[in-house]
This record gives sequence, C-alpha cells and structure tokens, in this order.
Amino acid sequence: SSNNLQGYAPICLGNEDFYQRRLYQRIRDCFERPIASAPDAWFDLVERFSNDSNKTLKRTTRIRRCLNLGSYSYLGFAAPDEYCTPRVIDSWNKYSPSTCSSRVDGGTTVLHKELEKHVANFLGKQDAIVFGMGYVSNSAILPVLIGKGGLIISDSLNHCSLVNGARGSGATIRVFQHNTPSHLEEVLREQISEGQPRTHRPWKKIIVIVEGIYSMEGDLCKLPEIVAICKKYKAYIYLDEAHSIGAIGKTGRGVCELLGVDPADLDIMMGTFTKSFGSCGGYIAGSKELIQYLKYTCPAHLYATSMSPPAAEQIISAIKVILGEDGTSRGAQKIARVRENSNFFRSELQKMGFEVLGDNDSPVMPIMLYNPAKIPAFSRECLKQNVAVVVVSFPATPLLLARARICLSASHTKEELLKALEVISQVGDLLGIKYFGAEPKKH
Ligand code: PMP
Repeated sequence: SSNNLQGYAPICLGNEDFYQRRLYQRIRDCFERPIASAPDAWFDLVERFSNDSNKTLKRTTRIRRCLNLGSYSYLGFAAPDEYCTPRVIDSWNKYSPSTCSSRVDGGTTVLHKELEKHVANFLGKQDAIVFGMGYVSNSAILPVLIGKGGLIISDSLNHCSLVNGARGSGATIRVFQHNTPSHLEEVLREQISEGQPRTHRPWKKIIVIVEGIYSMEGDLCKLPEIVAICKKYKAYIYLDEAHSIGAIGKTGRGVCELLGVDPADLDIMMGTFTKSFGSCGGYIAGSKELIQYLKYTCPAHLYATSMSPPAAEQIISAIKVILGEDGTSRGAQKIARVRENSNFFRSELQKMGFEVLGDNDSPVMPIMLYNPAKIPAFSRECLKQNVAVVVVSFPATPLLLARARICLSASHTKEELLKALEVISQVGDLLGIKYFGAEPKKH
C-alpha cells in the first residue's frame, strides 16, 4: 500500500471480493451523485452531505458545479443550442415526448421518416432505420442478421451490446486480437480459404464486427486494412460508429471519412445518437434490401415504442448544423474544435508523464491507472477540485488495466482544459501514476 492511498482500501491483489467491492463502490458513487443539469462542459452534481462529523444528523444535499470531462457530447449538442433547441421544443408541443406506439402501430411520424433519410444521406448509404436505444441497435439487430450456422468474428474489445447481440444470435463466435488485421486474417484463414465462393463454405454467413473508435481505448479502427481483408475473404463487415460518427472526419462523417474508406465497402453501418448528436437512440444504415429486411423482421422495431419525436428532431437539427444547413459555419467549427481540444489535451498529458492511450483526433483518451485501488481515489480527488472524470475498470476493462477516461468536447475552452490539466497533474502526483524518469509511452 502507499501513503498516497490513505483513507482508501489497501491493495490486496488476488482477492476477488476486493475487486467486486471497488466496482460496487464506483457504481454507488455514480448513483449517489445524480446530475442536475445538461451534460455540457460544466454540469451540476447533487451531493449528499452532513455537517456532523459522526454523520448522525440527517443528511442534506448541495449542488457541486464541475468541469465535465466525462460526457460523450463530443460536439456540445447536449447543451441548449440556438438552432436545435427551439425546434425540439416545437416538436415536443406538436408530437409529445412519446409516440406511445411501435413503428408499425402508429409510431412512425414524419420526423422518423425525415431522420432516416438524413442519416442515410449523411453516411452515403441507400437507406437507414432508427431505434429508440443505441444498445438495442446492436443487441437486437445481430440476432436478426445472423443465426445458427453463421460465423461472427469480433474484435476482442467490442462493446457489450455487440457481444450480447452476437451471443444472442446463436452464431459461432470467434474473437480476433484487438484492432489487429493480421490476426483477423489468421482467424478467417482457419475457417475458409481465400476467394472461396460464399455458397461453397462451411458457414452460411460470416460477419466481421469492429468499432470506429474503441470506447475504452480511444483508438481508431484500422478500417482500411480490415475492409481489404473482408473483401478478400468475402466476409460482411459491421461497423459500430457510436463514438466516431459526428466526432471525427473533416465533415463529421466518422472513421470512413478520416481514414479514406468508401462507405460502399461497409455492409452494415451502425451508430448511436447519444454522443455527437446530443440525443437518444441508434441507427443501422446499409442497402435498401438490408433496411427493408430489418423493417419487416426486427422484433426490437416491431414490438418496441418508437424513438421519442423530440429526440428525432434533435438529431435532424444537429445534422443540419453539422452540414451548415442552419446557414452558419458552427458545425464545421465544432468539428475542428473537438479535434484541436483532443490533440492538445492528449499531448499535454503525455508531456506530464501520464500513460495515455488512443490515437490523435480521438476525443476519447484513457489515462492508465492500472491499480484498481486508485479508481475511486482518482475520481474523488479530482472531484474535490470540481473536475469530474469517469473512471473505468473490470468488467469494462481487464482487471489490472483500470483507467480514467477523459472525453473531450467542442464546448471546452482552452482555459477549462488548462484548469483540468493542472488538477489531473496534481492528482497524478498524489496517487503516483506518472512515469518518473522514463519516457512516457508513445502510442
Ligand atoms: N456501441 C458502443 C461502441 C458504445 O460505446 C455504446 C455505449 N456507449 C453503445 C453501442 C450503446 O449505445 P447507447 O448508449 O446509445 O445505448
């Protein structure tokens, strides 16, 4: 144990109860500090406190205004916006918050149709279908796309919604080493030979699943190489752009635009509206035939209430701002800003001696803590100085790869980033998580 950790639990590796307790402690921290504002660059946390040191008196609450380094609102659209907000309020008045109906029972509004058109055009695909929840867009779609007799080849760090969708499909699942095209090829070669026609293979269908930006690593998918391998072996490719759509690429069109991949080479494009668009829900985009098939067969769409209309309007409006259709260049500025903020913050953290994961341009930057005992300590010490940082560990990461995960937004100003860097540096010294003497790792 270390003096820096006094007041926190001692380190005792190998004790499962210990890790379980750390996980529960982290979850409890979040539930006990609900948020009372929009998740913008700053937000309000509701804290319970007692003036009595014995904590026998009734607890009361107070608001702590914090610099928010954990929001997925990469473009700042989760905050009130001069273009989006009035339109969302109008849609609220016109349609109400809920359609109270599934898409096929009266839950398809003009807004849903308009949104699907905008999403397909934005991504350069023939058609799209939207869902009320991003998680469901993966977990409920995969079992409709593939089943027993099919093969899913999944990146080892794919999101839980993809893992559960794959498991629920009944297909055989193989995993390839995270973002390693050569290992993907190895796994494919074990199953089929190059150029073998789809009809002559032991698998009814093969789907390779990857993400645009990996949410726990902050790295960009090696998409050009992976697409080339999928073409070579005639495997379908499924790309989850939850964290990359809107946030990267010159015009916000995600990892394809950034890395120069033609969207026509992607069979199934999935993404969520819960990050860059500041709304709710998710989408699948692809060929007309694929989307029509999903419309007629996917239970999560046939038997679930459709996306809230104001949420749909928020996405439509945000896409219009991104494309400059609001008559301003705010969208382009937001995209440039989140990139500048991310690249500045990552390089400053590295200069300070932190081990930071992820690629340039990615707004997701994990700072490695390794030791799970430092997880609650890191977030609580930052919070004491009004900086809110998300910390993640098992089961979202391997047990001994705990990390703080910074997410940056176009809403953060340079002054705010400098304040955050100062606080993180102090906490890094306190907890002993900087590299001393050694060069920080280059990623
Ligand atoms: N895919 C990925 C890669 C994610 O990180 C997430 C959640 N952050 C989801 C899907 C689920 O999306 P949502 O939170 O919008 O339900």
